[in-house]
Amino acid sequence: MAPTETLFTKIINREIPADIVYEDELCLAFRDINPQAPLHVLLIPKTPIAKLSEISDSDQSLLGHLLRTAPKIAEQQGHANAFRLVVNNGEDAGQTVFHLHLHILAGRNFTWPPG
Ligand code: 5GP
Repeated sequence: MAPTETLFTKIINREIPADIVYEDELCLAFRDINPQAPLHVLLIPKTPIAKLSEISDSDQSLLGHLLRTAPKIAEQQGHANAFRLVVNNGEDAGQTVFHLHLHILAGRNFTWPPG
């Protein structure tokens, strides 16, 4: 694997299976293998950006697309009104897979502050 490639690249390339719920030319969304809510989907760009703090100006429209797509996925999954988006940036923030991803969580009450 190239340095920027993670298991999410393998999911994009259908080299390992995933329960895919949405795909377009720029991004892919699939159910988290270890769900933390009744709905727990990971939305990833097909471009393997390691983390949010590594985006460049040229990625702005891609990020906008991800934020525009997340509520569409929540709605498609029956959670139009209440969902939480989480981006863990860096190991100390809980990031374990270094391919940018938005967690889309819904279907239960969430507390604040998050743990
Ligand atoms: P992070 O901790 O980096 O913010 O989130 C990574 C997420 O990827 C975790 O919630 C973890 O459960 C999920 N994950 C790790 N490996 C796999 C996998 O092989 N398939 C799927 N669908 N999710 C995975």
